[in-house]
Amino acid sequence: MTTSPPPAPPAKPAKTIVIGLDAATWLLMRPLLDSGDLPNLARLMAEGTHATLRSSIQPSSEQAWPTMTTGVNCGGHGLYGYMRRRPGSYAHDYVNARFLRAPQIWDRLGDSGRPVIVANVPMTYPPHPVNGVLITGFMAPGTHSEFTYPAGLHDELRSEIGEYVINVDIERGALDRQEANLADLVAQFRYMTEQRTAAVEYLARTRPWDFLMVVYVSLDRLGHKFWRYTDPSHPLYTREGAARWGSVLSDTYRQLDGQVGRLLKLAGQDDTVLVVSDHGFGPLTHAVYLNRWLEQQGYLAFQSPDQRALGDRLRSFATSSLRKAVQRLQSPLVTEAKQWVFQQFPALRGQLHSAMAYANVDWSRTQAYAVGTMGNFYINLQGREPQGIVPPGAPYEALRDRLMADLRTLCDPESGAPIFEGVWRREELYHGPYLDEAPDVIGLLDPHYHGAVVDWRSAGNAIVERMGEELLFLADLSGQHTMDGIFIARGPGIKRGVGVETQQIADVAATVLYRMGEPVPDHLDGRVMTDILESDWLADQPVRFTEESRPSDQTPANDTGYSDREAELIEERLGGLGYL
Ligand SMILES: [Zn+2]
Repeated sequence: MTTSPPPAPPAKPAKTIVIGLDAATWLLMRPLLDSGDLPNLARLMAEGTHATLRSSIQPSSEQAWPTMTTGVNCGGHGLYGYMRRRPGSYAHDYVNARFLRAPQIWDRLGDSGRPVIVANVPMTYPPHPVNGVLITGFMAPGTHSEFTYPAGLHDELRSEIGEYVINVDIERGALDRQEANLADLVAQFRYMTEQRTAAVEYLARTRPWDFLMVVYVSLDRLGHKFWRYTDPSHPLYTREGAARWGSVLSDTYRQLDGQVGRLLKLAGQDDTVLVVSDHGFGPLTHAVYLNRWLEQQGYLAFQSPDQRALGDRLRSFATSSLRKAVQRLQSPLVTEAKQWVFQQFPALRGQLHSAMAYANVDWSRTQAYAVGTMGNFYINLQGREPQGIVPPGAPYEALRDRLMADLRTLCDPESGAPIFEGVWRREELYHGPYLDEAPDVIGLLDPHYHGAVVDWRSAGNAIVERMGEELLFLADLSGQHTMDGIFIARGPGIKRGVGVETQQIADVAATVLYRMGEPVPDHLDGRVMTDILESDWLADQPVRFTEESRPSDQTPANDTGYSDREAELIEERLGGLGYL
């Protein structure tokens, strides 16, 4: 994809290690740094610089990590969240790396002949060839699927370090909060984290590398679930809960600090070390029913009472089936079968999600609908949606304007505070070959609010509901992503012991290329973070650019990788086991 010839590598190639701590936030890190609980991260900050790292909009892992590793906005890489509207349909699919259509840092470095080790960066499944090794991350169906490049690395890792874990299925412990299940969940995350570092140490010992990147996800998964126990202001906080589970998140930070210490041993003093998070984290306290709000505002219509009753029955059947499936999976079952079912779970859940969210919608009277949980809206556009009613051109624009104005006035009835921090047309946030796949209107939710498109409980007409024990049975969310992640950098010429102003997530790719002596493609949206550098270092080593034509539109992938066959298989399998 790079059009200019690779530059001559420097005599002694500069190495870079990027340590990703998904969902790390200064909010929780600061007190732990102050109390001396994170000695390795504290040392990195003292020997380098640090900042808040501003995430992508939306601040979802599926948008933020690709934005960080490609250096282009979502319109340039094509990922807009964990669900994707299937073209020509109202169905939604879970996305993966097949939909990511821009080169990542390691692709560019590989083109220059630089060897790489990439471990568990989200949205890298299915694996693609790199100049080195790639272990895929979040959204990989599981270790039964081919999840590494080169293939066969899994066997090598297993014989060297033992069982390798890509992701712990948080759903497993979502329904009930039984002590043993929660403790088991935490233990599984601990194990996964240790194994990940062991794998990276092993790979770094046995492979050549100039660039090494590894991402840990335990802060995110455990943060969603355990935030309520750490935050006395959270509506679900209890003293008993805090006494039992209140240290889970701080223990997770401590464990990750230990991993950082081990990884630092792989770096020489001339090497660059970055610690990054894809987004921050904070309390989640309310659900906001976006499609219900659209209905009340006249943008969305549900079917007539008769049709609706049928839809409700279908929906409650799907809901109870899914609930039953999850519950039954917690009962004793052959481990093999259990693992398989959990690996396929995203595909099934995705299908049921679409079915439940839109089962009752009367598309012939619907102008706009919400997708996902973060405030993304589509217009029911003629010629694009199967039953689109809004003509393109002026009517589309007028509708977007009206919807945006209404979203800006949507407030919490209790506090009177706006629910959206910002509302944009897609072209105001994104540009590039995949702009036309973006939602038509994007609202950035105040992170206290979870955008619910499925009325799990079909209860009442309230638009906003305070988190209670019974809300969102599958998700069990009490913490949510925020825009403010973390950034730490250490290396020659990088400022020491001082913080710098907020940095942008898209700037990480250009900064890594620069630190490694590589030219920066001139069309990247991200820039080199020059204010982390000593000014004389920058003067001695100015940023070099390379002309590169913006990659042209690649045929949108329609194959999710989670095939209909897989979805059918799981339904069959669940059916065969008596679950559906
Ligand atoms: Zn998350």
